[in-house]
Amino acid sequence: MSEIISVPEIFGCNVFNDTAMREYLPKNVYKKLRQIIDNGEELDPKIADSVAHGMKEWAISRGATHYSHWFQPLNGATAEKHDSFITAPGNLGNVMMEFSGKELVKGEPDASSFPSGGLRATFEARGYTAWDCTSPAFIREDSLGVTLFIPTAFCSYTGEALDKKTPLLRSMQAIDKQAIRLLRLFGNNHSTRVVPNVGAEQEYFIIDREKYLKRKDLIYAGRTLFGTMPAKGQEMDDHYFGRIRERIGGFMHDVDLELWKLGVPAKTEHNEVAPAQHELAPIYEECNVATDHNQIMMEVMKRVAEQHGLTCLLHEKPFAGISGSGKHNNWSLSTDDGINLLNPGDTPHENVQFLLVLACIMKAVDDHAGLLRMSAANVGNDHRLGASEAPPAIISIFVGDQLEDVIDQLCTTGTATHSIHGAKLNTGVATLPDFDKDATDRNRTSPFAFTGNKFEFRMVGSSDSIASANIVLNTIVAEAFCEAADVLEKAEDFSETVHDLIKRLMIEHRRIIFNGNGYTEEWVQEAARRGLPNFPAMVDAIPQMLTPKSVRLYERFGVYTKAELESRSEIDYDIYSKQINVEARAMINISSKSILPAVIRYTTVLADSVKTVTEACPEADASVQRELLVECCRLLKQAREAVKNLTEETDRAVAITSAAERAHAYHDRVAPAMAALRAPIDALELKVEKKFWPMPSYGDILYEV
Ligand code: ADP
Ligand code: MG
Repeated sequence: MSEIISVPEIFGCNVFNDTAMREYLPKNVYKKLRQIIDNGEELDPKIADSVAHGMKEWAISRGATHYSHWFQPLNGATAEKHDSFITAPGNLGNVMMEFSGKELVKGEPDASSFPSGGLRATFEARGYTAWDCTSPAFIREDSLGVTLFIPTAFCSYTGEALDKKTPLLRSMQAIDKQAIRLLRLFGNNHSTRVVPNVGAEQEYFIIDREKYLKRKDLIYAGRTLFGTMPAKGQEMDDHYFGRIRERIGGFMHDVDLELWKLGVPAKTEHNEVAPAQHELAPIYEECNVATDHNQIMMEVMKRVAEQHGLTCLLHEKPFAGISGSGKHNNWSLSTDDGINLLNPGDTPHENVQFLLVLACIMKAVDDHAGLLRMSAANVGNDHRLGASEAPPAIISIFVGDQLEDVIDQLCTTGTATHSIHGAKLNTGVATLPDFDKDATDRNRTSPFAFTGNKFEFRMVGSSDSIASANIVLNTIVAEAFCEAADVLEKAEDFSETVHDLIKRLMIEHRRIIFNGNGYTEEWVQEAARRGLPNFPAMVDAIPQMLTPKSVRLYERFGVYTKAELESRSEIDYDIYSKQINVEARAMINISSKSILPAVIRYTTVLADSVKTVTEACPEADASVQRELLVECCRLLKQAREAVKNLTEETDRAVAITSAAERAHAYHDRVAPAMAALRAPIDALELKVEKKFWPMPSYGDILYEV
């Protein structure tokens, strides 16, 4: 029998959470800190020393020797710098373990190696990390020992954000302020804060580590750069929600334990559509904490996989021809006293506040569809969005039959008089209970779907931080709320004005609603007719950050300055170029050093066989060997030409100085040259005898975990 685990006991045991704070902080300091965290107040420097001391004592009691400011620089990863708690040895050579308020609140990592998109060059070389007390500190146990991690924001000397947390916190402030204005107009005087809640469902692949280590492409690029579908693909859909295999089960179990200890509420696990693909969903939390927890989740999954002799692939498209991975960013807004602004209630047509919120979200998403698309752009996601799989690159909103009907009533007659209700689901089996169906079925193709009391933004890439998506959502909705509040605060007759406003917004932005199948070519045409933007590639989406409309939006709500946006756009172009450059170089290397030599060896064997057979028996028909030899040699030559061409294109692209032009060269010229190399090599993989092929095949990797 396995060991019995008490989840409530271990949950959060590695987090400096409320219980730990109560125990390790003086009462008055605890109260003050709680107030700061709950009300989003500014940190009082007077309590910093005391908090630092308590935090250190707690961490040491858990075995910590080091602390680290933990931040999210703009390359999408997390960064850390470890310092031990020890002080300089005294006369007797003895050390103390110390941690001051100053060390807790502010850090100064050597920031020069993190991308700044020119910000630091223009302003100052220094970068600072600043404690974000709204996201709890935690300890991590790994081969480095036990370390106290302090979530921080990362800024330049003059306060420009060099990370994803700073703008996220700014966007949360913006939506809080504007949402409260709206609530007051509806007579709500009891709520004091509105926060976005986020639950990010994480998809990933798990493969055997030995096989992973034999695939240089996976090591360098995180995805396979060569390879073809095995005979058994995902046509059968037998993996989806299938029984979880033992080895994977062991991994998932340990991931859960690790995450629970870190206070990450891991909840749901299941197999995904593709073989070796899985999903892990946590329970939703405040946006900022959910974002940090998603980073922790990705780190833990990678680390625990290694301990199990497995590798976790977070890339958006690790295997061509097999479903890629994404992250569903479930987003809603709730007050500090527990009211979800996205809850329509049983009769949405009567729920004026909900209808106004919905109308504002329609406006926000329609006005800033390009930004929302951009927020999900990363290099790996180019293989999903706008390629042959879900969701499409075109932003639209799915609201389901019930709400679409209400919107239609409002747009046509100006008043909504009824709401469609879900029927009873009758299973036809007497012993099974009949239950109420949801008023609306699911739509899996929509990039932004209303799912009962939240919106699910499905575009985010599986390896990406969810910060960008939430920054955009929070800010664009803050703007729509602000404009609505501006109108309503001046209204003489509130109920007439709000009614007219909802109707106007819904009519103006009706085009963004689409309940149909988003995968079809008809939708691409229809969306173009409606004037909805379509940016299939990351390089096309990047400029959306810098349109006058976007700059105005961000500056108005204090989320980004123009300089910050310019730096981010530079960094994104640069990341794109660097990633494709790595992939192209890896392809050149792998094909020149492993694949082409292997094919040459195989063709030699074939040639010998032709010779041996015809010499031994002149009347024997060696045409099969000969045909195979001819075909392999033809593909070999094609591959060799493609390697040369790819080398030239890559050399040309890397020399371009403008970040935008360079990225476009990688997209327009290098990426097609990569495809031109992959094609003959994938064809060869199907012809060359398996024992000659220098790496494990898709079949080996996907079906033998
Ligand atoms: P589905 O409806 O897709 O089956 P679940 O209800 O299991 O999904 O939720 C999927 C994710 O959405 C989970 O991470 C869950 O915690 C989160 N979620 C549920 N309700 C909300 C909400 N009100 N706001 C934000 N996220 C939510
Ligand atoms: Mg989902």
